[in-house]
Amino acid sequence: MNIPFYHNGLRFECQRCSSCCRFEPGIVNLSSQDLEKLVKWSTLDTDAFISGFCRWVLKNDGYEYLCLQEKENYDCILWDNGCIAYESRPYQCSSYPFWISLLSDEDWWNINAQDCRGINSGKIYTSAEIENMMQKRRQEPYIRRKTGDTIN
Ligand code: SF4
Repeated sequence: MNIPFYHNGLRFECQRCSSCCRFEPGIVNLSSQDLEKLVKWSTLDTDAFISGFCRWVLKNDGYEYLCLQEKENYDCILWDNGCIAYESRPYQCSSYPFWISLLSDEDWWNINAQDCRGINSGKIYTSAEIENMMQKRRQEPYIRRKTGDTIN
């Protein structure tokens, strides 16, 4: 069995620079659990929240994924001098940078560290904590549809 590069844990502490939430195009996927929390936060109904805050993004697998909208300047729709839905933010945001994709390869992890000064600094997350975060991600898949399907 391969020992993951993070077997001794990894350091991460967000420096709150907001660069991952602003300025550049990005995709914030939503799971059903994320959507439920954000709908509650917004006090809208689900359809109104989706039309006001979300977009469908077509990916290479042929599915459209439910994602948060961006503003014209590419800031996240939920960014206004900080995340306005911080306590209800999507798991993609709260689990960053412990994403399955970033943890697949040490070089890729370190490449991402060049864009995030929080990676490889501050608090140590144990390999068990990291595995738990990836497990939760697997248990909360992103909402997706075939083009033309409704959300349900
Ligand atoms: S880029 Fe990194 S340090 Fe900056 S806000 Fe995002 S997670 Fe935090």
